[in-house]
Amino acid sequence: MEYSTLAELYSRLEEVPSKLKKTEILAEFLVNAPSNELEKIVLLVQGKVFPGHSENELGVASQMMMKSISKATGLSAHSVEDKFKKTGDLGLAVEECIKSRKQSTLLKRKLSVSHVFENLQKLSTITGSGSQDRKQSLISELIVSASPIEARYIVRTIIGDLRVGTAEGIIRDSIVKAFLKSESKEEKNQFTSAVENAWSLLNDYGEVAKIAKEHGIKGLEKVGVQLGKPMQVMLGIAVEKIEDVTKEFGKVIAEYKYDGMRVIIEKKGNKTWLFTRRQEDVTKQFPDIVDLAKKCLKADECIVEGEALGIDAKTGYPLPFQTLSQRVHRKYDIEKMVKEIPVQVNLFDVMSVNGKSFFEVQLKDRKKELNKIVKPIKGKFQLAKALVTDNPKELEKFYREALAGKQEGLMLKVPDSTYTFGRHVGTMYKIKGVMENLDLVVIGATWGEGSRTSWLTSYEIACRDPNSGKLLSCGMMSTGLSEEEYKQMTESLRKSIIEEKGKMVKVKPKIVLEVGYQEIQKSVNYESGFALRFPRFVRIREDKGPEEADTLDRVKSLSKSHGKAG
Ligand code: ATP
Repeated sequence: MEYSTLAELYSRLEEVPSKLKKTEILAEFLVNAPSNELEKIVLLVQGKVFPGHSENELGVASQMMMKSISKATGLSAHSVEDKFKKTGDLGLAVEECIKSRKQSTLLKRKLSVSHVFENLQKLSTITGSGSQDRKQSLISELIVSASPIEARYIVRTIIGDLRVGTAEGIIRDSIVKAFLKSESKEEKNQFTSAVENAWSLLNDYGEVAKIAKEHGIKGLEKVGVQLGKPMQVMLGIAVEKIEDVTKEFGKVIAEYKYDGMRVIIEKKGNKTWLFTRRQEDVTKQFPDIVDLAKKCLKADECIVEGEALGIDAKTGYPLPFQTLSQRVHRKYDIEKMVKEIPVQVNLFDVMSVNGKSFFEVQLKDRKKELNKIVKPIKGKFQLAKALVTDNPKELEKFYREALAGKQEGLMLKVPDSTYTFGRHVGTMYKIKGVMENLDLVVIGATWGEGSRTSWLTSYEIACRDPNSGKLLSCGMMSTGLSEEEYKQMTESLRKSIIEEKGKMVKVKPKIVLEVGYQEIQKSVNYESGFALRFPRFVRIREDKGPEEADTLDRVKSLSKSHGKAG
């Protein structure tokens, strides 16, 4: 397929705001897409060139992109920057640059989808000395061959900001509409969950679309666990009181809610893999957990799930998550970290044992199986502390015990629930000691004053509106960070700048912060309609992506529960 055909699709998707219309347009496009390019196209329409489980990154920030555009179009760096500032979008900036460039375009050759896709993938393989120049050349080559509209989307794909509004739900529904003809509403719902389920296991809508096209619903239903690959996980819903759950479900399986790193342990013979809830492979960072899994998991092949905690060797209490998080992205001195920050794994679920899938098995029976296959080592690799009862008083006591042991709270799980990916009512609930903090996404920042001009010191924080898919500002936050944390934030945000005006920058939404505050007030100054009063930094939520940040509804309900709104 020619890339111009895909660019036309992007442009149509960008023009229509309606989700339904977008789904229709995309479904029709997928039906007609050549089979051998379907996987690539499904990734590209999500603005990606690697599936969700891949660790490859293109590593191109706006500065490098501006240089590449200047090189490709012959316009000065200053003039490219001007256009960027004017439009606030590098895609529109490159489009204008190409339209106004003086160089001949006669020798242009047609770009194919595969050519663009492969070259974009290549960007992630360019590392080491001189990599900046080589990346720039590769991007410039693509821009030179592109028409203005093609360049708009190539550039946006590279900087990770496609702006055509194709959220995961739209991709999922388009695949259903394109390849799975249903006779009734029930059947359509069944197909939609089959597509979502397959995606939860494969983490790649490209692969899911291919299976749907070639093997239909039967093929999708056959998708099983893939040992060695990460998967989505089951999440909890916050409740205010224990009774909220016991009243509805009676007996619950209550467990300590440990504040650590969720770890999915996959074992096949001598091989073990560890994944986080965000599908990151952390096997290399935690050789201690790999060793424990080898010793303590009795099944030849299995997938189990638990929470890894950092433990203070002197007190035996859990270390704050920030301390453990030093190990999560560590690439060197791993053995030193193993000694400095020892971990404890608390297991709470099992998804597969020796080829048998446990997703459809009820939690109470999954627990029995977990019991069977784990040979615990106390304090190191053990079953999560649990209590099974319908008695709120006993649960209250258990809850206080958890908090006294410096754990985060309790998880309350419904004994006959199956393992369902994502956050669903009726499966598992959480109750925490501190309810008020919010997890918000950084969408902008400002450069500091005086000695801090090279640091981004104030952050625009936003909540999520699941209906519109937008991130809505709740104000600026600048206190509570140490010098180290300001530096870390600056380093991370600098790479994600997508727009710059004076001291203000807009950034790609990537970082989620846990934010404390004194109260929430209604406000006309911010898009969310709310402002946090005295917001302060608590920690970076490395375990969360923007799609998991707190919602507008949660901000609203917390503002009410504090009685300060209005
Ligand atoms: P929070 O912000 O409260 O940590 P979350 O959005 O990260 O919540 P939830 O699914 O709502 O995730 O809460 C469950 C999280 O708590 C899991 O991702 C897991 O890492 C952790 N956890 C700790 N102990 C347990 C447990 N016993 N069972 C399930 N999850 C647990």
